Amino acid sequence: MLLHRRKFIQWSSKATAAFILSFTKRSNDCFMPANKLYDVIIVGGSYAGLAAAMALGRALKKVLIIDNGNPCNKQTPHSHNFLTNDGKSPAEIAALARLQVSRYDTVSFFNETAATGTITSAGFEIATISGEKFSGKKLIFATGIKDVFPQIDGFSACWGISVLHCPYCHGYEVRNELTGILANGEAAFDFSKLIFNWTNKIVLFTNGTSSLTKDQSSKLIQRGIEISDIEIQRFEHSNGLLQKIIFKDGTEKAINVMYAPLPFEQHCKIPIALGCSLTNEGYIETDQFHETCIPGMYAIGDAISKMRTVANAVAQGSITGMNISKKLILDAF
Ligand SMILES: Cc1cc2nc3c(=O)[nH]c(=O)nc-3n(C[C@H](O)[C@H](O)[C@H](O)COP(=O)(O)OP(=O)(O)OC[C@H]3O[C@@H](n4cnc5c(N)ncnc54)[C@H](O)[C@@H]3O)c2cc1C
Repeated sequence: MLLHRRKFIQWSSKATAAFILSFTKRSNDCFMPANKLYDVIIVGGSYAGLAAAMALGRALKKVLIIDNGNPCNKQTPHSHNFLTNDGKSPAEIAALARLQVSRYDTVSFFNETAATGTITSAGFEIATISGEKFSGKKLIFATGIKDVFPQIDGFSACWGISVLHCPYCHGYEVRNELTGILANGEAAFDFSKLIFNWTNKIVLFTNGTSSLTKDQSSKLIQRGIEISDIEIQRFEHSNGLLQKIIFKDGTEKAINVMYAPLPFEQHCKIPIALGCSLTNEGYIETDQFHETCIPGMYAIGDAISKMRTVANAVAQGSITGMNISKKLILDAF
C-alpha cells in the first residue's frame, strides 16, 4: 500500500515537472547563439545557478546558463525544508525555477556539459563538449558535488530514497524508526549523536573494524546504540526501499532507513583546472562574496558549502547574482 502511494506520488511529481518543463525555453532548440559574449556565464543550472541567473537577469545583465541536467538530488522523491516547496519533488522545484528564470529574455540556456575553461583578456571562455565556445566577463560555477558511493551492491539504488544524507532534509519523515548509520570513526560518533535527536533506535554499521575510540563506543552503547562491525555485502531493497543488510559472513539485519555521510568530489573539474584552490574538505575556496582566488570567477552552492540544502544554494545564488550585477553596473558607469 505504502509502495503504491509512493509510486503514485513519484509519478505525479514527475508528470508535474514534465508539464512545467514543456513550457520552458528548451534552449538548444530555440537558442542559436548569434553573439556569444555574455556578461556572466553560469556553469550549473540547478538551484544555485538559477537563483544567480534570476538576480542577474532582473538586473538586465546578459546571462548564459550551461547545464547538463544532473543535480545531486535527482533520485529523491521528496525534497524538504525549503520554504514554500516543502515536500515537492526536486525535479518539480527545479522545473518551476527554470520556468520562472526562462521568462527573462536576458537569460539564455545551453543544455550541455561545459568541458574546458580559459582565462582571457576580456574575462573567461567556456567550451562545451560539442565544441561550442562562449565568452563571459564573469564566470560562476554552480556545479555542485558528486557523492562517492561505497562498493556495496544496492547502495546507489537506495540513495536519496531510503539511504539518506541529512536528517534536516529527511529526518522528520523517518523519526522514531529503527535507523542505520553507515560510518566509522569520528564521523560515525558525531553523526550518531546527531541522529539520536530523531530516533533512539540506532544501529551503527562500521562496515569492518571499528575505528571508534573506546570512550566513543562506550558512550554510544550507554545510549542504547548498537554497533555492528561486520563487513557489508549488499543492500536488499525494493525500488530503492531498503529492506535488509546482507553481511559478508552470511548473516543479515532487517532495516528500512540508513544515513550515510559520504566522501565527495567536485562535480566539475574546470574550476580546479583554472587554478581555484580547494579547502581541506574539498570545497572550492571563496571569500565572503563567493569569489574564488581568481578575480571575476565565483562559486556557489554545494560546490563551496557543507550546508547542503536547497535553501542555502538559492540564498548563495541570489546574493552572488546581486553582488556581481552591482559590480558590473558600477564598473560600467
Ligand atoms: C540524495 C539527496 C537528497 C537531498 N534532499 C534534500 C532535501 O530534501 N532538502 C534540501 O534542502 N536539500 C536536499 N539535498 C541537498 C540539495 O539537493 C543540494 O544542496 C542542492 O541540490 C545544491 O544545489 P546546487 O545548485 O549547488 O547543486 P546541484 O543541485 O547538484 O546542481 C549542480 C548542477 O550543475 C550541473 N553541472 C555540473 N557540472 C557541469 C558541467 N561540467 N557542465 C554543465 N553542467 C554541470 C549539474 O548537471 C547540475 O544540474 C539533497 C541532496 C542529496 C544528495
